Amino acid sequence: MRKKVVIANWKMNYDFHETTSFIRNFLKIVFERKINHDNKEIILSPSFPFLHISNQILQGTTLNIAAQNIHQSDKGSYTGEVSAFMLKSLGIRKVILGHSERRKFFFEKNDLLSKKIKMALKYSLDIIFCVGESSLERSKNKQFEVIKSQLKETVFHCSSDEMKYFYIAYEPIWAIGTGKTATIEQAQTMHEFIRSLFFNKYGQSISDEISILYGGSINELNAKDLFNQKDIDGGLIGRSSLEMEKFLKIVQS
Ligand code: PEP
Repeated sequence: MRKKVVIANWKMNYDFHETTSFIRNFLKIVFERKINHDNKEIILSPSFPFLHISNQILQGTTLNIAAQNIHQSDKGSYTGEVSAFMLKSLGIRKVILGHSERRKFFFEKNDLLSKKIKMALKYSLDIIFCVGESSLERSKNKQFEVIKSQLKETVFHCSSDEMKYFYIAYEPIWAIGTGKTATIEQAQTMHEFIRSLFFNKYGQSISDEISILYGGSINELNAKDLFNQKDIDGGLIGRSSLEMEKFLKIVQS
């Protein structure tokens, strides 16, 4: 069955204390308020230095941790980088790749992302792979073409058997951190299109199974309408995931 997924992408925000106290409080509140999360996957994505402690706090729960990046090699002279090989040794099982901030500020292109995907798969990490068009591309009605080539040049190099490692996050760049969410119709139309690409490439069961998340200024007010769409299986949340009550409401949506 297709998974419902909510991911908190904390980017480069929380320090050690903020990360660990958020996670501990979150677990406490979920327990105290009896928030039902049986049928959904909740994934938290803290910065590299806090992955280990975060993972330890979550031991024995159903919540998961994802890293925000990996290098395309597993070892070597790459000062300052972190590899899938290292994450695996910490028991981290998921990674976000292709986020538009990585594409924009660190010049990550599809060919590099394709190498990162290979490395993640070598260590059996699940991949939350982000795609999205700019406002200029949308203004020229090129959004479908852009998303298609982002997938064709990366994820679609992988085999059917490898699809079980993927989540796709559709994140229109113009909606990230801007407070400007895609309309329900824009989001659903794109998700349906993405699912059709998976259908054409891999067939019915993979296109039915793959979770396609929306990301871009999701908040506690718009989450429910977005998540009610038939091809939107949850969300990748930036800003609103930094506030406990907002994030809890999004999870409950
Ligand atoms: C993101 O960066 O993935 C994101 C969706 O951010 P925000 O929710 O702040 O738009």
